[in-house]
Amino acid sequence: MTVDYTALYIGGAWTAPSSDRRIEAFSASTEELLGSVPAATETDVDAAVAAARAAFDDPRGWSTWAPERRAEVLDRFAAELAGRSDEIARRVSSQNGMPIRFAKVVEGGVPGAMLRYYADLVRTHPEFEVRPSLVVGSTEVRRDPIGVVGAIVPWNFPQTLAFFKLAPALAAGCTVVMKPSSETVLDAMMIAEAAAAAELPAGVLNIVPGAGRTAGAHLVAHPGVDKIAFTGSTDAGRSIAETCGRLLRPVTLELGGKSAAIILDDADLATTLQGLFAVSLMNQGQSCYICTRILAPRGRYSEIVDGLSDLVRTLRIGDPLDRSTVIGPLATARQRDIVESYIAKGLAEGGRITVGGSRPAGFDRGWYVEPTVFADVSNDATIAREEIFGPVLSVIPFDDDEDALHMANDSAYGLGGTVWTTDLERGAALARRVQTGSIGVNGYTMDHGAPFGGVKDSGLGRELGPEGLSAYQQYKSVYLPRSS
Ligand code: NAD
Repeated sequence: MTVDYTALYIGGAWTAPSSDRRIEAFSASTEELLGSVPAATETDVDAAVAAARAAFDDPRGWSTWAPERRAEVLDRFAAELAGRSDEIARRVSSQNGMPIRFAKVVEGGVPGAMLRYYADLVRTHPEFEVRPSLVVGSTEVRRDPIGVVGAIVPWNFPQTLAFFKLAPALAAGCTVVMKPSSETVLDAMMIAEAAAAAELPAGVLNIVPGAGRTAGAHLVAHPGVDKIAFTGSTDAGRSIAETCGRLLRPVTLELGGKSAAIILDDADLATTLQGLFAVSLMNQGQSCYICTRILAPRGRYSEIVDGLSDLVRTLRIGDPLDRSTVIGPLATARQRDIVESYIAKGLAEGGRITVGGSRPAGFDRGWYVEPTVFADVSNDATIAREEIFGPVLSVIPFDDDEDALHMANDSAYGLGGTVWTTDLERGAALARRVQTGSIGVNGYTMDHGAPFGGVKDSGLGRELGPEGLSAYQQYKSVYLPRSS
């Protein structure tokens, strides 16, 4: 049985779409139709922006509420999501192939955690402070909500990445028009269901799935929007940044990555291999921050290639809805084709496959590709330079720590990264010198209380932590004639 929606969530109500165009969602593992939603047109985006604008500009509305009052609504929203988390995780897994064991924890858990975190933050974070003026009297320095936010999210962690934006934006007092990716529309509609059940005021959150890039591009350039928050590919980010630059519109961009895992010569291989799966192959490599360049000291190169290849051989490929699966299919046929073309390029440029490289045997349906390790890769090879967004790792030899650092930094991207060592001081010292937005020593556990984002082609601005709230606020100074 398919799940089919007939309306869009606009202005706090399920609203008939302006056209009969639809977006279909397919199972990544069976290729079967899972359901469909209306495809929002530019007219629907206009209606959603108008609703968000009216909600934001309402003189007694959401943006003017005391933070505590907004926080109560966000807590209710989190509770409504919690009640739906199993089904949300199931829909994400079915659509994009994420193994359910990860989807339940991440996609089913992070959205509520983000809402509760930002609800608590605004409860304790003053909206303004009064400072003695350096000239005369005092100045009230306010952190006002920035306005109507256009939020555009990708398919790889569609819930988590949506709430990296929705939670701080709503907590700050902004209103939002969200455009989910067309590959993951069914879980996105459950955000609308939870918002309606939590009684978010009309227009505070609007959800408009659009086919292709048209609806998103229309949202980015819309005169009723004050800020864009985007997660997706670097190419799309560049195009969005151009539009926002022309319009002088603030924009946060979370883009691609090609991070390095630097394994130092003193690393304990068993511990390193144990941690390496989560930082390199999680979600079939369809994660922006993961380390797909494994930098290995020349003296231990064969040992590391063999150990990593053995580890990859043990990974259980299967139905993403099966709890024992750790590698599911890729999200789309197109994504599989892209990954296969990179595997061919890796071979053509002299790389040696030690494990994987093909479609797994026994899967005649679904967009599966075996997790693949390439040895004898140079840091200049295409597969070491470009984001593949699939389960393909390159093991690259280095001579010493400085050589490893040079290679880690010799990349267009700078999003994540890891250093593996038994000497934590040495690891932390090297990690501090890697040009990246975030990096872990002997692991990488994203901390929602700390800023996350990229340098270079990996993006602009930061999400998460108090800094992620500031991204939806603007400063305003009110000069007062007297000290208060
Ligand atoms: P994508 O750029 O194709 O699409 C992302 C979203 O943007 C979709 O909703 C899409 O419809 C929309 N979009 C695309 N072009 C647009 C345009 N010109 N104007 C407005 N909207 C537009 O990316 P994808 O294939 O869905 O996701 C994979 C990419 O996302 C990878 O490059 C990955 O690294 C990146 N990503 C980055 C992060 C991060 O936090 N840095 C997290 C996850 C994914």
